[in-house]
Amino acid sequence: MSIGRTILLKMADSPFLNRQASQRAFVKRATRRFMPGEAPEDALRAAQLLKAEGRGTIFTKLGENIEVPADADAVRDHYLWFFDQLATSGLDGHVSVKPTQLGLDLSYDRCLEHLLVLATRSEAIGKIFWIDMEGFVYVDRTLALYRALKERHPRVGLAMQAYLYRTQADIEALMDLNPIIRLVKGAYNEPSSVAYPVKADTNRNYFDLSDRMLQAAAAGRCTPVFGTHDIPLLDRLVARAKAHGAPDKGYEVHMLYGIRDADQRRLRSEGRTVKTLISYGSAWYKWYMRRLAERPANVGFVVRSMLG
Ligand SMILES: Cc1cc2nc3c(=O)[nH]c(=O)nc-3n(C[C@H](O)[C@H](O)[C@H](O)COP(=O)(O)OP(=O)(O)OC[C@H]3O[C@@H](n4cnc5c(N)ncnc54)[C@H](O)[C@@H]3O)c2cc1C
Repeated sequence: MSIGRTILLKMADSPFLNRQASQRAFVKRATRRFMPGEAPEDALRAAQLLKAEGRGTIFTKLGENIEVPADADAVRDHYLWFFDQLATSGLDGHVSVKPTQLGLDLSYDRCLEHLLVLATRSEAIGKIFWIDMEGFVYVDRTLALYRALKERHPRVGLAMQAYLYRTQADIEALMDLNPIIRLVKGAYNEPSSVAYPVKADTNRNYFDLSDRMLQAAAAGRCTPVFGTHDIPLLDRLVARAKAHGAPDKGYEVHMLYGIRDADQRRLRSEGRTVKTLISYGSAWYKWYMRRLAERPANVGFVVRSMLG
């Protein structure tokens, strides 16, 4: 892992820097590259523009590791409100949540209750309900939550991380559920005891896991979603999908708002199903630091924003 990435991911966990950065207008300005605005209405408006280009949307309200149960209740209620907006929006829009935003640090059972309420509502309006994957310490519990949800609600998807050694076995174990899996490389600061320290190994694992999922997709036993901006990798996967006979609609590509936008449009025009993940909300610090860590050159945007 590069030194720049390690430092930025360590800074992501600092409550002091969180307080400092969140108060600085120039940092807030710099976040606009990756989010259309803090209000949910900003996200919905941006999604309408993407819809005109044939792109769908995944929405996520920023925030994680909440510390009091009332905050988890408020997040659940926010998403219930958001589902009402989605139901009348005409958007191909879906919601993705973080388990620790719904209180996983406080109570597994209560978190599952919240997720079940949201998955039920999501299903009722014909959407896929997504669960993000957070740091390594949450993987076992998140997999258990996914299994409990997927057994009751078929249209629930899970993010899984190619940088973890365990992910190959975890994907195999989920195959009996006909899973919907968004494969990502992984955004957290994990030790080499659990995650590939060298990027090339993560990339190789990403390709192998995707290939396996495409094979299962061709047999109707998995819906793979490629959550990456790695264009050469995606182009190889599109070719593998054809070789396996996976239908064009049998897999999707998801990318983040503001990243590789021209490639998102190109993939869409070539017939791929492309969805753009839009984040909103005021708790952007940790999430934004992870975006900087993915490409330390992005720190230049913060500096330029400071200079106006
Ligand atoms: C839809 C979606 C959902 C995600 N959900 C999760 C999740 O639940 N859990 C999790 O751990 N991670 C999640 N991630 C983040 C993911 O793990 C990676 O950290 C992130 O996608 C960067 O890796 P990459 O696959 O794009 O490949 P990389 O090899 O890192 O990047 C490939 C190319 O993409 C461009 N790029 C990538 N990141 C940036 C950036 N921040 N700014 C500018 N250009 C960039 C660059 O041109 C780079 O060369 C998600 C990512 C996406 C797209």
